[in-house]
Amino acid sequence: MEKPKNLPRDPGVYLFKDEHEKVLYVGKAKNLKSRVGSYFSKGDDPSTSLRVNRPWIAVMMGVIQEVETIVVNNEIEALILEATLINEHQPKFNIKLMDDKAYPFIKLTTKERFPRLQVVRQRTKDGAQYFGPYLSSWSANLACQFLRRVYGVHLASKPLPTGQDRPCLNCQLEGNSCPMADQISPEAYAKQVNTTVEFLEGKRKNIIRDIEQRMQQAAENESFELAGKLRDQLKAVWHVTSSQKVVGSTQESFDAIGTAITGNRSVVTVVHVRNGEFIGQKNIPFSSLQPITQAELIRQCLIEIYRYLVDIPPLVALPVTIEDQGLISTWLSQQQGYRIELRVPERGEKVDFIALANKNAQSKLESMLLKTEGTDFSSLIGLKELLCLAELPERIEAVDISNLGTSEPVGATVCFINGQPDKNEYRRYKIKTVEGQNDFAMIQEVVTRRFSDTSRPLPDLFVVDGGPEQLRYTFEGIRLAGRSPKMVIALAKKPDRIYLPGRKKPITAPRGSKGLLMLGRIRDEVHRYVIGFHRQRQRKKSLGKP
Ligand SMILES: [Zn+2]
Repeated sequence: MEKPKNLPRDPGVYLFKDEHEKVLYVGKAKNLKSRVGSYFSKGDDPSTSLRVNRPWIAVMMGVIQEVETIVVNNEIEALILEATLINEHQPKFNIKLMDDKAYPFIKLTTKERFPRLQVVRQRTKDGAQYFGPYLSSWSANLACQFLRRVYGVHLASKPLPTGQDRPCLNCQLEGNSCPMADQISPEAYAKQVNTTVEFLEGKRKNIIRDIEQRMQQAAENESFELAGKLRDQLKAVWHVTSSQKVVGSTQESFDAIGTAITGNRSVVTVVHVRNGEFIGQKNIPFSSLQPITQAELIRQCLIEIYRYLVDIPPLVALPVTIEDQGLISTWLSQQQGYRIELRVPERGEKVDFIALANKNAQSKLESMLLKTEGTDFSSLIGLKELLCLAELPERIEAVDISNLGTSEPVGATVCFINGQPDKNEYRRYKIKTVEGQNDFAMIQEVVTRRFSDTSRPLPDLFVVDGGPEQLRYTFEGIRLAGRSPKMVIALAKKPDRIYLPGRKKPITAPRGSKGLLMLGRIRDEVHRYVIGFHRQRQRKKSLGKP
C-alpha cells in the first residue's frame, strides 16, 4: 500500500492490518508520522529505512492494507496501550508470550452481582477479566490480598453467597463491609471493583496518592484507627521493597535478566536476588515469526510481565541496553510508587547473575526444542557441546570442491538450517581464478566468493572438508571477503577428526556422538552436491556446450 498521508506527529500506537482487517503488527511511537513513515521508506540508508536491517519488515509491508493510528497523551500511555493491544490481538509479527500453564493470572469475575478475584493458571473465554501473567503465584496472591484488604473485593473460588448471618472472617478481621452479610450494596461494591481494576491495570500512582491524602486527613481529624489502617494499606503496596533494604548492608535486591534465542523460539529468564541471595527464577518462553534481537525480546518481556507485578525490586539488571529503557523505568516507577532503575551493570555480582540467567535460559530453551518435532535439535545440541559453541549452530554451511579429471573445476556450498538441508541456500561456483589442480587455492576462492555475498546471512558454523591446511586457506578466503561466520572447523575423514582454529591437534568425538554424525552428514551432502555439479559441467563440455 501507499504511505498514508496526514499521519499525526503525536505519540501513540499504530496497527498494521491485512485485507481482512486482521491486526498483523502493533507498535508504539513518540512521533507517529516519522515512525510509521519509516516503514514505507525504501531507501538504503539504515537510519531512515527499517527494511535494510530487518528483512521481515519488507515481507510484512507486502501484505498490509491498512494502517490505524491511535493518538494518546504521552509515550507512557503509548507503551501501556501497545502492550494491551498486543495481548488482545496477538498479532502475527509481534513477539508473543507462549501459552504456558506455569503462569498465574488474576481473574475478576465481572458478570456476578458481587465480582470476586481468583488466582488461576489459564485464561479462558468466559467473559471474565484477566490480569497477568504474574511471575509467581506468590506475587499474584500478594496483589489479591492487598486488594481484598484495601478495597474489600473478595477472593473466592465460587460465587459469593449472600444473606449470611454474619460477615466473613476476612471482613471481620479487616473491618470491611461484607457483601455476604448484605453490609454493602452492589453499587458501592462495584465502585471498589473499579478501583481494583485500575490497580491491576497499573494505574497505581493515583491510588497511592489517594491513600496518602486520606491518611493525612484521618490524622488531622484525629481518627487514628483509620489512619493506622490506611498506613497498613500503604505498607501492603510497598510490602516487598520496604523490607528489601537492610540498613547498613550492601546486600542488594534486584532482578537479573538473561535470554536465549534460536530461530523463532526464545526464553527470557528472570533471576530474583533478594538481600544478596538467589531466591528463585522464572523462565518465560516467547515465540516470534521473524528473527528478533535480544534487546527487542527483553523490551517485550519487561512490558508484558512487569506491568502486572507488585514485587519489583528497585533494580533490574539487563544484559544489553534496550529501546525505551528510560521510559519503561519511569512508567514502572510511577505505577509502583518507588524508583525502579533499569541498568546494564559493568562488573560485579550483577554481571554474574546475568550470566547465570543466560545459562538457565539456554538450557530451558534447549529442553523446549528437544520436545519440538521435525527438527533435529538433539544433534545440534550435541554439536554445540562438542565444539563448545556459545549458541546452537542453527545455520551450518559446508564447502567442498571437485577438480577430478582436471577440467572444469567447481566448488559448492550447502546449508543446513536447524539440522535440516535447505536447498534454496545451496550455491555452485565455477572456479575462475585458479590454474591447475590447486585444491587449497580453489577453496580459498569459493570461500571468498561465498562470504562476499552480503545478501546472505552468515552461518553459525562453517565446515570445510579436510585438515589444518584446508582450514588455513578457508580463513584466508574469509579474511579477503571481510565477513566471518561465528565458527569455522575442518573435518577430516577416516577416522573423523575435527580441526579447530588455533589448535594443532584435532579433537575426536565419542563413537556415535550425535554432533559428529550431523557433521558427517553435512560433509557427505556437500560432497555429493559438488560431484553432481562437476559431472554435469563435464557432460555439457563433452557435448560441446559452453
Ligand atoms: Zn466478607
